[in-house]
Order: sequence, then C-alpha cells, then structure tokens
Amino acid sequence: MKEMISIKPHHFVDIITLLGAGKIFAPHPYKHDLHRVAYDIFVNHDILVRIELGADDICQPCIHNINGLCDDTIDTSYRPEAPSLKREWNLLIDNRWCERLKLKQNDILSARDFCQWLQNLAGDISSIYQEIPADRTKKREYHLKEGIRMFLSSED
Ligand code: SF4
Repeated sequence: MKEMISIKPHHFVDIITLLGAGKIFAPHPYKHDLHRVAYDIFVNHDILVRIELGADDICQPCIHNINGLCDDTIDTSYRPEAPSLKREWNLLIDNRWCERLKLKQNDILSARDFCQWLQNLAGDISSIYQEIPADRTKKREYHLKEGIRMFLSSED
C-alpha cells in the first residue's frame, strides 16, 4: 500500500467531485493515473498527500506530460477568459484552491484531513471557477459536497 502521493490540489478536488457524481474511475486515453491515485486515496484515507503545483503522480504517465510540463490545451469556447494552455489554467485554479484551503507547495497532510479541510473551508466555489459558466460550477459544487460526505462517512 502506498504511503504518500503527490497531487495538485484541483486533482484531489476532482477525485472527490467525481466520487460525488458517481463516476467510474477507469483508465483514460491520456494514460494518466487519475484512476490509480483515486484508488490509493479510497483504500487508505490516511495516505499522506503532498501538495504539488507542477506535474504530480497523476501526470507522471500522461502522454501530455513532456519533461514535467503539460503540453495540453483546454476548451476555451465556454470559458473565453481562461488561458488556453492547460498548465496555466491548472496553476490558476490550484493557486485559488491553495489560498482557499491555506495550503502551499510541499505541504503534507492525510487524504482524510484534506477532505475535512474541504468540508470546512471550500464554501462557495464560484470564485475559484469564475471563468466557467455558473450553472456548471453549481453542479460541480453539489457533487463536491456529496463526494466529501461520502468520503468522510465511508470506512477505508
Ligand atoms: S495536467 Fe496535463 S499532464 Fe497532467 S494529467 Fe492533466 S493533461 Fe496530463
């Protein structure tokens, strides 16, 4: 069983949000490790999580991870204010999550504590995803809260 993972804050949030949305975690065409890291977190709520604002454990095998830099782009058709490079977009969102959760690069906490902090500090997430249409963010917030509830109430 893994003892520690490195993760971008928004990737952790995505995993909990997908849990709340009832999504199946499966291999992705990008070959990234979202499904494996999600499994590591779900089977061990005490796994240590190291905050990483660059390429994290999910990014390592991804086809878009080029020497530690993400070369992917994002769909700006519904978020025209957002940067088109995914690494710039990710950093923007990760910095906002860090500010909201009082986290910084290389901080280490358990997955359980991360989720607890999300429950206590996430609040209204509309300003974190301000470039995204409000109805999408409302749905995201609903699923995030549901995922937090499910994670914290389940045994690992
Ligand atoms: S951030 Fe980029 S490198 Fe990392 S998993 Fe996503 S697409 Fe791949």
